[in-house]
Amino acid sequence: MRAACLLLLLTPLSAQQYDLVIRNGRVIDPETNLDAIRQLAISNGKIQAISTSPLDGRATIDATGLVVAPGFIDLHSHGQDAENYRYKAMDGVTTALEMEVGVADVDAWYDRRKGQALINYGASIGHIPVRMRVMRDPGNFLPTGDAAHRAATDDEIAECRRQIEQGLARGAVGVGLGMHYTPAASRREILEMFRAAAHSGAACFVHVRYAGDESVAALEEVIAASALTGAPVHIAHITSSGLRSTPRLLKLIAEARARKLDITTELYPYTAAMTGIESAVFDPGWQSVLGIDYKDLQWAATGERLTADSFVRYRRTGGGVILHMIPPSALDAAIASPFVMIASDGGLHNGKGHPRSSGTFARVLGRYVREAGALSLMDAIRKMSLLPAQRLEERVPAMRNKGRIREGADADLTLFDPATVSDASTYEDPARYSIGIRCVLVDGVPVVSGGKLREVAPGRAVRATVR
Ligand SMILES: [Zn+2]
Repeated sequence: MRAACLLLLLTPLSAQQYDLVIRNGRVIDPETNLDAIRQLAISNGKIQAISTSPLDGRATIDATGLVVAPGFIDLHSHGQDAENYRYKAMDGVTTALEMEVGVADVDAWYDRRKGQALINYGASIGHIPVRMRVMRDPGNFLPTGDAAHRAATDDEIAECRRQIEQGLARGAVGVGLGMHYTPAASRREILEMFRAAAHSGAACFVHVRYAGDESVAALEEVIAASALTGAPVHIAHITSSGLRSTPRLLKLIAEARARKLDITTELYPYTAAMTGIESAVFDPGWQSVLGIDYKDLQWAATGERLTADSFVRYRRTGGGVILHMIPPSALDAAIASPFVMIASDGGLHNGKGHPRSSGTFARVLGRYVREAGALSLMDAIRKMSLLPAQRLEERVPAMRNKGRIREGADADLTLFDPATVSDASTYEDPARYSIGIRCVLVDGVPVVSGGKLREVAPGRAVRATVR
């Protein structure tokens, strides 16, 4: 091994020697609630021993003063390329998954990343891209034509379902849906996709149909589909869908869970959202739906605030726009809720985008745990690791070995300084690495060491059984 986190000691070969030992870290495991100084031994990409007494390793990381946590699992990561994986790793993320929009060609998507990725990766089969393909939509990432605005024929609905089932057969981790981007998709069409998910034991990852005051009705649609079909549901970014109605959505989810429905949700810790200006989110009437106006829109490429004129111009060309619209009270209501996970919804393009892409996880640890005391360190780590692993493990049993620190678990680990960890990215400059993430291991291989990225590619596919 070329470099380690803080200190690398090479010791002579002895009987009980591991590949790597992490010494004197504050090990936090959300599954057992362990929070204590421990010695951690790793061999062959797995945690082999957790001990109070010294362990012997061919390489050593001194983690004195650092928290040793399970690597963070980001269920909502649109940025799925080398650029984005660097920012993810520097934010403590060891697994990044594209679950909400998803992909249309599961095999091609996994093939492109094999042996090339800094961190673990995975994707859902997405109703949005499938509908775009079936209805020949001209949009790039999100629909702009028929897939957004035309009701599907019975044949088209059947073809969408067939392609969703095909994606699941090829090992897609779940089914992605986003009715806010496909408003012409009927409730009957959406129910068909839930049936396909349920048939394969997959959960649906959903950006609900409406935002703001109408989001209660939008969430009811999804809860009904889950209750009818049995497909579990994960609601994307509850705060940017709920806005000031977020507490109402939390109440609905709590009520559904009390009725034994399997429903979870997530948030990113920011008061602005981001999406494509060309998408159906900006169809006429968006100001009253979202409770904002042109001045609350910020063009990601330049940082400028929009006007009626520039809005029309940019909507023709398309591109990312930041929406300053989420009340801080929505975040405060959601962040400590036990069924709310942390997920970024991020994606940078040549350094441009939303700061959530690079800062989500460190921001929760710095701003909401250390500074505001809004949740405990243990609970924050649980929302970033164990809960997302549990969300996926029924469909992908390998996830039972992630999100935990125990013997036999995958050595995906994040070591950070709890006194300094914080986000550095801003709306004007989102391409800044987080601070205080000292060492990140993927499959036992350091991808961040001494706070610096390494050029390695230990990332593996997170994928369900391929049939
Ligand atoms: Zn979304």
